[in-house]
Amino acid sequence: MNKVPYSTEHDLSCIGSLDELKEMALSCRRCGLREECSGVVFGEGNPVARLMLIGEGPGAEEDRQGRPFAGKAGQLLDQILGAIGLERFEHTYIANVVKCRPPGNRVPRPEEARQCLPWLYRQIELLSPALIVLLGGTALQNLVDPQARITRARGQWLQSKSGIKIMPTYHPAALLRDPGKKRPVWEDFQKVRDEFLLLHL
Ligand code: SF4
Repeated sequence: MNKVPYSTEHDLSCIGSLDELKEMALSCRRCGLREECSGVVFGEGNPVARLMLIGEGPGAEEDRQGRPFAGKAGQLLDQILGAIGLERFEHTYIANVVKCRPPGNRVPRPEEARQCLPWLYRQIELLSPALIVLLGGTALQNLVDPQARITRARGQWLQSKSGIKIMPTYHPAALLRDPGKKRPVWEDFQKVRDEFLLLHL
């Protein structure tokens, strides 16, 4: 479990910039999720960030604002980043496995994720981050291994074929439901901070 797949049947390799990719993605209707949401939540952050964060999908607030991690889980994520000396818009770029809100915040279905992942893969290629934090089991299972469990995989660095270091940890929404997960997430983000600081030596 140490490789991230980057092959895609939906070939976006000719798209040369994040702005161009976003413009295309905003009109995407490749899966049924778009029928029931307000719009595509592409992702945001520093386009030259070395650290990328990947969650599951937009929730109600994210759907309303058109921004990832705009609700309570996003506020908690900002606090976590602040605690390790990072600021979301300066140091990170944030996206999700699916870019349209699943109804009732259900987990995206495998077919929905399969349709949407080419956008994310191209985002990763264009950003070329050194580090990726996978926030929650959905990101872990769709980007690394469908059989993986976040409870077992969190806290250990993985590596993609292209050399990106990947840290799985719990989704901030899981912390809101279970404060007992705060300590492991804190430990995981300390590892991320240590690796992030090494990038700037
Ligand atoms: S979830 Fe992804 S694949 Fe489905 S319509 Fe939205 S952007 Fe397109």
